Amino acid sequence: MVKTGRSWTGRISFLFQRGRVDDELWDDLEEALIAADVGVTTTLVLLEKVRERIAAERAVDTDSVLAVLRSEVAALLDANESSRQLDRLLDPAAGRRPLVLLMVGVNGVGKTTTTAKLAHLYLSSKMDVVLGAADTFRAAAIEQLQVWGARLDARVVVHSANADPGAVAFDTIQAAKAQGADVAIIDTAGRLHTKANLMEEIKKIRRVVERAEGGELRIILVLDATTGQNGLHQARSFVGAVDCDGVVLSKLDGTAKGGVVLAIVSELELPILFLGTGEQLDDLAPFDPGAFAEALFSAAAG
Ligand code: GDP
Repeated sequence: MVKTGRSWTGRISFLFQRGRVDDELWDDLEEALIAADVGVTTTLVLLEKVRERIAAERAVDTDSVLAVLRSEVAALLDANESSRQLDRLLDPAAGRRPLVLLMVGVNGVGKTTTTAKLAHLYLSSKMDVVLGAADTFRAAAIEQLQVWGARLDARVVVHSANADPGAVAFDTIQAAKAQGADVAIIDTAGRLHTKANLMEEIKKIRRVVERAEGGELRIILVLDATTGQNGLHQARSFVGAVDCDGVVLSKLDGTAKGGVVLAIVSELELPILFLGTGEQLDDLAPFDPGAFAEALFSAAAG
């Protein structure tokens, strides 16, 4: 996260050193934001707001532009009830138990790793977790979750390869209920024979989960920050097909383009819940919009 902030602000702060607010500054700012993967639409909307406020405040110095930009970014990241959704996730006991997290996203984005990181987070807070290996399309995915389960000392519900993912999801919730667990986290496939198949499968799992009469269901979309605007494009088909509740953005440590966070929040209209910043269990942080906006511009502020 720090790395991301510095790389982006490196370019931004350079712009503000010039000291004058002119057309060139606005053009360069637009270019820098788009280059940071903020996305064209989001960049234009954001800069429009900043320009309006700067005009209204009759500000002429670049420090004011930076301050307004920072506050508009914070406001944008705060949209979509990020903190309320996150609070619910961090406090499974506040609703019907178990809280059921269905992890969705395309292959390789970090779903299984994020499942393990989330389990670790709950276990570290003395909450009980059951994992479900519903990615039955790949035998390796089942094994991968079993390895994490053994490391975490968490129960993993497993069926054989190619078994019905819905049945795995159902059994995971039953196991969580029987065990009195706080959370059930179900890993799903990111690839099937066709994309339509995949979406149908996820919808089917969703229906099974709803019928299993567990606690509350949250569908968590995992996105890979390094795929930038392409990843966003893929994400749209998921969001269109299944009603996702929020995003975990993985691999933020692997990109200098932290601006994609803004694009996700504004274009997918989903709250970001957690950021993944590495391959280890501890490399997951709850998303804090204010702190993130601050970090993005920290270098420029100094
Ligand atoms: P899945 O196919 O979506 O389940 O993806 P995996 O969980 O198997 O992850 C794919 C690869 O990304 C693995 O090598 C993970 O170690 C790696 N990975 C997952 N999350 C992160 C992250 O936040 N940062 C980095 N650098 N690598 C990650």
